[in-house]
Amino acid sequence: MSDRPGDPSPRPAVAGTGARAGEGAEAAARAEAGTGAEAGAGPETGAGDGAGARAAFDAAAYKERARSGPCFVCAMLAGEPGFEHRIVYDDGTHVAFLDRYPTLLGKLLVAPRAHIVDAVRGFDEDAYLALQLVVHRVATALARVVPTERLYVLSLGSMQGYAHVHWHVAALPPGVPYEQQEYHALMTSRQGVLAVGEQEAEEIARALRRELSGPGGD
Ligand SMILES: [Zn+2]
Repeated sequence: MSDRPGDPSPRPAVAGTGARAGEGAEAAARAEAGTGAEAGAGPETGAGDGAGARAAFDAAAYKERARSGPCFVCAMLAGEPGFEHRIVYDDGTHVAFLDRYPTLLGKLLVAPRAHIVDAVRGFDEDAYLALQLVVHRVATALARVVPTERLYVLSLGSMQGYAHVHWHVAALPPGVPYEQQEYHALMTSRQGVLAVGEQEAEEIARALRRELSGPGGD
């Protein structure tokens, strides 16, 4: 893919390259080509486009893990087995990593390393702005790596599960019908999880790390 030295492309466009291991690339490439579900190419599965093939997703296990397991961000940072994520950015205060349950290709999470649980009051103004600067950098990088019509940025979480503040950064590809955008495109319960192969995820992570390692990056 465009990870190759000397590749002149300013936009790695991972989804349209050699990332063939996962179906997500195919879907994103299809979306990029403007042949989304509105073209009538596929059944009305609810997955729409920008979507692509969906992987099996155990919602019950996900919920149980969220509510009774350790903090997934802290566990990841501590290197606990089972909590590995592909980290693409780490400045010592914040980390950004690929979502293990993406509904959109390349979906990322940005979090402070510290176990802060309030997305606004947990930060003074300077710390909040510093975090948002990372969100901006990461989202900008994401849009260079995957086909992007619109960037989604939001923080949710729950005091009963996944309390550690984290910002979702996702890229809606071109071609997704209006009614399948926004929350519809983000919710695992509606969309299921995008089937992204290990090789494809690693290629996306590499492309993001490269984007984020330049001036203003890590
Ligand atoms: Zn934590």
